[in-house]
Amino acid sequence: MTTYDKWSCLERAQSILSKGGVSLLRYACLELRFCMEAITYEKLNAYSGYVPTKVFKKWQPNHALKMLLQFEPHADEEFSLCISPEPELAKPTGNWTTIGEHRAFKLSWLNKNYNRLGSYLHMPQNSNSFDEDVEDSSKIRKELQEIATELVRILDGDISSMTLATRVQFKCQACDQISVVHESVLRETHHATCIYPECGAEYHVIEEDRGNWQFKMKAICFKCPNCGTNNWLESHKLDIGTKFKCRSCAEMYQIISGEWRYEQESKIKTIS
Ligand SMILES: [Zn+2]
Ligand SMILES: [Zn+2]
Repeated sequence: MTTYDKWSCLERAQSILSKGGVSLLRYACLELRFCMEAITYEKLNAYSGYVPTKVFKKWQPNHALKMLLQFEPHADEEFSLCISPEPELAKPTGNWTTIGEHRAFKLSWLNKNYNRLGSYLHMPQNSNSFDEDVEDSSKIRKELQEIATELVRILDGDISSMTLATRVQFKCQACDQISVVHESVLRETHHATCIYPECGAEYHVIEEDRGNWQFKMKAICFKCPNCGTNNWLESHKLDIGTKFKCRSCAEMYQIISGEWRYEQESKIKTIS
């Protein structure tokens, strides 16, 4: 299992923020981003039995967190874990002991701040220096300090990489690789995404019997005018310019237009 040094990243960022010059703020941004990535990947390590490490390594943090929420829909919620003796099955004595606290950031918080830090890594337009505007720099330093404070709070939670998830595995029909999704995500959304970013096929999922899930890829059928074969194109790939090959006669096609029609809902009801 890979160990990510989230604390070192955070400590280096804090040190720069407390005593480093304005020109070093950019490095503080980098360290804070590394810390965010480390928290996400450490959590994902719990899934190393389901997703090969080399695949994790390809994931950008935003994709990684999206996947984490597919594995564990409550990964971005905070909770305390307590235990109690249970002399009889399902009848705890009530003497609860807290064994840990899970502190997490919201997906929206990560997205927003990860991107914000990224924006500070670029040279501002019409400027040659990161530190030209002193007022701006002190504002940025304050923002970075707030992010660091939130990260300290998250890192202080001591069961951040624990997982209690009930997972469902499925074989992606588009790429033939094994994907994974949390059962409660399926119950709540009936939706799953292939975890491989280069594929990303989307599925509508229904529960036929208790615990027996049917994955149906969201796809559109294109009948080949040449040979009459039905070709299925995943709906997330539909776009003007998308090319595809007939799986039977190998004729190449390109999507040249798409048509969405809409109507007032009330009228649709009267028609139907
Ligand atoms: Zn796939
Ligand atoms: Zn054909």
